[in-house]
Amino acid sequence: MKQIRLYVTADEDVIKEIFDLLSTRFEDDGYPVSAAEIDENRGLWEASLYAPADEKEAVWHAMSACLAPDLPDLGVRLEDLPDIDWVTHALDRLQPVRAGRFLVHGSHDRDRVRPHDIAIEIDAGRAFGTGHHATTAGCLEMIGMALRRQRLARALDLGTGSGVLAIAIAKSAPIPVLATDIDPVAIAVARDNARKNGCASKITPQTARGLHDPVFARHGPFDLIVANILARPLMAMAPSISHHLSDDGEVVLSGILAEQRRRVMAAFVTQRLYHRRTLWRNGWVTLLLGR
Ligand code: SAH
Repeated sequence: MKQIRLYVTADEDVIKEIFDLLSTRFEDDGYPVSAAEIDENRGLWEASLYAPADEKEAVWHAMSACLAPDLPDLGVRLEDLPDIDWVTHALDRLQPVRAGRFLVHGSHDRDRVRPHDIAIEIDAGRAFGTGHHATTAGCLEMIGMALRRQRLARALDLGTGSGVLAIAIAKSAPIPVLATDIDPVAIAVARDNARKNGCASKITPQTARGLHDPVFARHGPFDLIVANILARPLMAMAPSISHHLSDDGEVVLSGILAEQRRRVMAAFVTQRLYHRRTLWRNGWVTLLLGR
């Protein structure tokens, strides 16, 4: 089924407010909502609502009406989402990214892989996670550290996007990884990338919002949970993340701005999860927490 994305662009605070408004209004009806930074230099963020293309007009009106009382000046824009066989773009511009033992590269850069690299092949496309963002690179580095400390049996990549972190885990340890995302397009991309990286048998991609789907109980409890989302949803999900974590499990969190670090840690301390390590990159932090 063809999908559309309805979105608004604004600064981070406004987008957070919109994210809350849209989540409250639409998520229970099964319309995924997401928020993401699109331009780090200009501080621009986007909030998106995904819907089937044949509901285009109804959902556009509903979204505009939902935002109008608080934010009357914001225009809701619309994008047709490409079909699954959409030709990916911007391949040449993406240089390989090194993070810890991992090298994330496009298919055009296979010859840049060195003998001891753990290579992850991801082409730029329709889901977040090519390794170029500071939060993805931070997670990759922290995953390397978490895997050195611990023997794991099961892992969860929450908000998998392109599948990059799930693939990093599956390539480093002989364990099953559940990879979930609210965005069905991301899940299709993650499935494709898992196959291209020879990890399809270890990674289970699944569309799910938050952690309430029965799939989490079936695949858990998890010894490692990685979640590169955003500070607010992470804080909201702290109890469920803790619930699905094994007794000596560890959590890698990112998508957190440096100034949000203490608040996020406080939300997890309430769940008896304590700070082990912080990585700082370009104003973002990646946290490692454990019991
Ligand atoms: N893990 C990848 C992608 C991170 S982008 C990386 O590290 O590069 C964040 C992803 O989380 C997006 O794909 C978004 O769709 C997803 N997401 C946002 N809110 C979510 C929620 N409540 N539950 C599950 N996934 C969510």
